[in-house]
Amino acid sequence: MKHTGGCLCGQYSFATELDPMLVIQCNCTKCRKLSGSYQIGCLYSVEEIEEKGATTTYEFEGGSGFINTVHFCTQCHVRCKTHPAPEVMEGMVGIPLGIFDTAKNLSPKVEIWTSEKLPFLKTDDCVSESFEDSGIAERLNALLENLESR
Ligand SMILES: [Zn+2]
Ligand SMILES: [Zn+2]
Repeated sequence: MKHTGGCLCGQYSFATELDPMLVIQCNCTKCRKLSGSYQIGCLYSVEEIEEKGATTTYEFEGGSGFINTVHFCTQCHVRCKTHPAPEVMEGMVGIPLGIFDTAKNLSPKVEIWTSEKLPFLKTDDCVSESFEDSGIAERLNALLENLESR
């Protein structure tokens, strides 16, 4: 497997043969509260991920105004994945970079909501595109461009 990962207690785990379609940093206030710091999500198609373990869910309205569904481990309550609103990215799943065993091999290429970015966070060299808002159209373009280099 190319990437594996899971929650803190190990009840939830995942594995995939592929690199993410896109690694995206979201600086919005909601993601900040949700993650306790800032959110870096690794996007996959749901069929590209093998999963084990039970999760419990919470729904919230994202910065774009659509409903995202977040999954947490039922035991340690670590955030395991987010299903973005189908209106934005149907059939996709975002796995937090922090729960990858292979996290050191990944870095964000795109960031969104820089208007809400914490001042001490510099723009990392790895980030090639930044958007002040949700940047939905541009985000999809970046995703498609990235698919070719997987
Ligand atoms: Zn757990
Ligand atoms: Zn966000």
